[in-house]
Amino acid sequence: MDRGVVLSAPGAVALEQIVVDQPKPGELAVRIEASGVCHTDLHVVEEDGWGHALPVLLGHEGAGTIEAIGPDVDGLSVGDRVLLGWHTACGECEQCARGLPRQCKRPPAAYGRLHRTDGSVLTPVLRTGTFATRTVVPAVAAVKVPDELPLEQACLIGCAVATGVMSVLETARVPPGASVAVIGCGAVGLSVVQGARIAGAAEIRAIDLDERKQEQALRFGATAVGEGPVDFAFDVVGRRATFELALRLLRGGGTAVLIGLSPAGEKAELDLPRLFAKRVTVRTSHGGDHLPHEDFPRLAQWALDGKLDLASMVTRRLTLEDAPRALDELRSSPDLVRSVIVL
Ligand SMILES: [Zn+2]
Ligand SMILES: [Zn+2]
Repeated sequence: MDRGVVLSAPGAVALEQIVVDQPKPGELAVRIEASGVCHTDLHVVEEDGWGHALPVLLGHEGAGTIEAIGPDVDGLSVGDRVLLGWHTACGECEQCARGLPRQCKRPPAAYGRLHRTDGSVLTPVLRTGTFATRTVVPAVAAVKVPDELPLEQACLIGCAVATGVMSVLETARVPPGASVAVIGCGAVGLSVVQGARIAGAAEIRAIDLDERKQEQALRFGATAVGEGPVDFAFDVVGRRATFELALRLLRGGGTAVLIGLSPAGEKAELDLPRLFAKRVTVRTSHGGDHLPHEDFPRLAQWALDGKLDLASMVTRRLTLEDAPRALDELRSSPDLVRSVIVL
């Protein structure tokens, strides 16, 4: 019997038995071997599903092995080690038709294959649902992982690392020599730091209320801690105070990038004359506008080449039974980078 971590009603998270159907055309079933515990799962719990119909199968930063393949799937085989991506492209929507697959409005999903034992359909978080022994996803969501890269590291690429690094390289296109501030130094923030280092930023300032997290960022490539004027400011937190800080730090012509998910109703105040005088740009990053098939292989290669430190980001290994508690602890574990559920 398969098991998964389910949000069944507001605030009710538990590990339970689940039923996983065979994949339909264009889909595959993956045995999950590792899944990162990302803040977005906590956001889903705290926002009563955050747009996902309850009951919800949590988890969206997973890697594993293909166990079954539906008809009409090319290029993948049973036994392949894969990383799951949630920010895929349909190839048909208005944005895809305009040649902007990174802004796809209708990422493909394999809804209806996952159930509770009472038969009710589970909605997998961000179309993946990786806090489970198995899940079913559209084939386009699976990207092969090089044999040498451990899955407990590879899974981080699926959300935190793609979001952080690609926010720098794709959303903001930080040029060599730029100065960068990163507000919020958890797994995504440290990935922004690493992305800025890879982009060749001259100055990378780590900002976090927790001094230990600031210090930790220095090991990932930050060159300074605390506030200072910069060309690019990344708000990885998404609260009023952090977004207003990002705008305040910008030099003339600077760009603020909003990455962190804000709670419903969160608002910030803009000083319009100052914004105008400084010619500020504000960009929003949905997962760094990453495209799994283009970006994951490159990120995995950088990890193998030592350009991207994934190993140091895995700070704790848990079992599936630990997942509900791990979500709770996300609120209170400041020195943690990433907990990874290993199955
Ligand atoms: Zn599309
Ligand atoms: Zn995530």
